[in-house]
Amino acid sequence: LYANIGNSKDLAAVLQNDAGGIGLFRSEFLYLERETFPTEEEQFQIYRTVAETMAGKPVIIRTLDIGADKKCDYFEMEPEENPAMGCRAIRICLTRPEIFKTQLRALFRASAFGNISIMYPMIISVEEVHRIKEIVAEVKQELTEQGVAFGEPKQGIMIETPAAVMISDLLAEEVDFFSIGTNDLTQYTLAIDRQNSKLDNIYDSHHPAVLRMIQKTIENGHKAGCWVGICGELGADMTLTETFLKMGIDELSVSPTFVLPIRKLIREMSTK
Ligand code: PEP
Ligand code: MG
Repeated sequence: LYANIGNSKDLAAVLQNDAGGIGLFRSEFLYLERETFPTEEEQFQIYRTVAETMAGKPVIIRTLDIGADKKCDYFEMEPEENPAMGCRAIRICLTRPEIFKTQLRALFRASAFGNISIMYPMIISVEEVHRIKEIVAEVKQELTEQGVAFGEPKQGIMIETPAAVMISDLLAEEVDFFSIGTNDLTQYTLAIDRQNSKLDNIYDSHHPAVLRMIQKTIENGHKAGCWVGICGELGADMTLTETFLKMGIDELSVSPTFVLPIRKLIREMSTK
């Protein structure tokens, strides 16, 4: 049972609530809280501190996921009609590899100091994963040539689009793990803007389509030897904990305050 954090200030809560690791470190806060791009060194120090503070427990850091609701002026993005379906997350990183490479260098360097995994958001195709691998290979080669030490982090992807679910058998061949982002997966499956409060009454993460997608992702992940977690809000829904365990989920990542109640629930279930 891991914790989600959106800010390194949340680290204290992770420790206090005795999370087994960090299942989602939303790295975009590093970019959102400022007026200019964070440097490689600044990012490295933060990732390293998080990894060292967790003392060997897993820390899954998600690469930049801005766009849609998360805006950053200095990226100078063109306004979009439909930002939730626009240029966001990995799409920005793949079209602006200099930004992506800076973050990857910091992550690979920091992973020499702790148990870091890297997770890529908003994946829709195998080609994207291949492109990521090419960029990662360049980063490693450059670090090697420069004599800079780095680790070998595990690499995984978020499954948060219906496209990724439908090709999860193919994607599973490419990566070490999946983490299901139920917030976006619900939004894109039901075609409901997750930020439109007028639709809250029909934004239903328990919709059978969403639950079947989770099931399918777990099955396809396991067939290829990937572990599969959930890091969206639904992971903390205690009415579904038993269902997720029966589906075979390997990890749930939830807000720090949910860690202890859910752990208690799981222990009670296993002694039943
Ligand atoms: C998700 O989409 O479920 C998720 C965990 O990512 P975010 O909420 O940051 O988009
Ligand atoms: Mg998401």
